[in-house]
Amino acid sequence: GRCVVAVDGPSGSGKSTVSRRLAVGLGARYLDTGAMYRAITWAVLRSGVDLTDAESVGKVAAEVDLRIGTDPEGYGVTADGVGVDAEIRGTEVTGAVSAVAAVPSVRALLVARQRELIAKAGRIVVEGRDIGSVVAPDADLKVYLTASEAARAQRRSAEDATDVAATAADLARRDRLDSTRKADPLQQAADAVVLDTTELGIDEVVDRLRALLTE
Ligand code: C5P
Repeated sequence: GRCVVAVDGPSGSGKSTVSRRLAVGLGARYLDTGAMYRAITWAVLRSGVDLTDAESVGKVAAEVDLRIGTDPEGYGVTADGVGVDAEIRGTEVTGAVSAVAAVPSVRALLVARQRELIAKAGRIVVEGRDIGSVVAPDADLKVYLTASEAARAQRRSAEDATDVAATAADLARRDRLDSTRKADPLQQAADAVVLDTTELGIDEVVDRLRALLTE
């Protein structure tokens, strides 16, 4: 039957790995909403419009043909037919994504797309920043993953082979932008289960979530 799991939290909290593994185990689909904001950001950068011009950013977002797969074992993102899986993880996109994600019309557009994808999938693990609070407030399980800043920087820099200090500074900057923006700031849903993953391995986190689902 239908089963929607919302996994929110800051970058480096273990969200992506945990969400994908949980989806595979459940035989469910998986949606990486951060990848959608990143793909829109890639298109905005390519267009050359001023990042602080919300109207133009919103226009690019509305016009780009964004497609994202929901297979947890290999989803791809395309923007206007271009595969952007590698580009959206680069420093340029990472540096600009919080600004693009703060534009209300961009959020409205992507939230609507995300709800469509969730409805179509039926069984799905969705990860992001506002899934339990805005995108799918009726989710069957809402989780908010956290971890110490040091652990998060360590994980992120291991993933993308960048310097830990630079990664820590970038995470702190994005956390601040994401949690203080006016439109749907990063915040845990009141009814989310909060799990600190600092001392937990991936499998332990996935096991706990599975246990919560069968409760
Ligand atoms: O999760 P990830 O690091 O890929 O997200 C990139 C950025 O996209 C975040 O820093 C945030 O600005 C934005 N985002 C968002 N809402 C979501 C997912 C991501 O605003 N649901």
